[in-house]
Amino acid sequence: MTPPAATGPLIDGFGRVHTDLRISITDRCNFRCTYCMPTEGMQWLPRPELLTYEEIERIARVAVTELGITSIRITGGEPTVRSHLPVLVAKLARLGVDVALTTNGATLASQAADLAAAGLHRVNISLDTLQPDRFAAITRRDDLERVLAGVDAAVAAGLQPVKLNAVIVRGVNDDEIEALAAYGREVGAEVRFIEFMPLDGDGTWDVEAVVPAAEIVARLDAAFGLAPAEARGHEPAARRHYADGRGAVGVIASVTDAFCDRCDRIRLTAEGRLRSCLFALDEVDLRRVVRDDAADAASTDAAIAAAIRGAVADKWAGHHIAQPVFVRPSRSMSQIGG
Ligand code: SF4
Repeated sequence: MTPPAATGPLIDGFGRVHTDLRISITDRCNFRCTYCMPTEGMQWLPRPELLTYEEIERIARVAVTELGITSIRITGGEPTVRSHLPVLVAKLARLGVDVALTTNGATLASQAADLAAAGLHRVNISLDTLQPDRFAAITRRDDLERVLAGVDAAVAAGLQPVKLNAVIVRGVNDDEIEALAAYGREVGAEVRFIEFMPLDGDGTWDVEAVVPAAEIVARLDAAFGLAPAEARGHEPAARRHYADGRGAVGVIASVTDAFCDRCDRIRLTAEGRLRSCLFALDEVDLRRVVRDDAADAASTDAAIAAAIRGAVADKWAGHHIAQPVFVRPSRSMSQIGG
């Protein structure tokens, strides 16, 4: 085990500096997307096992003030199904960091304005198809119109940028790549095409179902004309501007062109487990630290910081998807958060 630095930025054994914390606030969801969750849903976490908003705020405060975290993304399951979400957004925004949300958009039309007023800066909305029947087949819900209304509400509320996450699966929705991109250009939202990853709830992922990023980029270039690629930062998506200046598009090549060498992310699950990687096989229980009544406030904060530093110091180089050594994590995407 690499001894973690006691102070300073959150650096792992490969020199990667971690500044982005993704917080899942629930494992529950109002959709049943085929690439994420079984029809019947999952065994939901009992409410007392979920971190409270106060506990989330505490961990986030330590991460921001002690560990150099500068951006926080709220995820799920579906975070908008947890009540009083603007209260949590306001708590996190008061920490002075960039606050983002990943959502399926189904209830955004009624929540976007309140979330923006509470301090939300930007939002990613899942949208894998523009066809109502296919939407119902993928999500097992007939809610396409509500999601599109959610996109409009996010744009109207001034959330910036509004991004649309589209998981492309061969033979399911890969014929809609151009249509989704055109929709994004029309409404002023940036589409991020995501390669299908082995985090599906029923474990049927197959590399044959992955549409490689190179193929997606070639089709977008042929249809719209793309400007040369930008220098890659820590962002998962490789961004390309449209040659005509009407916005940009991103492609997340988790399988065919992994970006682990530039990773700056850590994740907190809804029940308080710290994961150094989306595909991590081990976790650190921060809830036990936070709920340790024997410790006073200062030593609890110190223990939170030390636990996070330890997890990051031990972080592996990256996932091994599609390699013989790859081991699927025991959690599905809905139990980790995007
Ligand atoms: S797979 Fe893990 S190491 Fe790689 S980019 Fe994602 S979170 Fe980072």
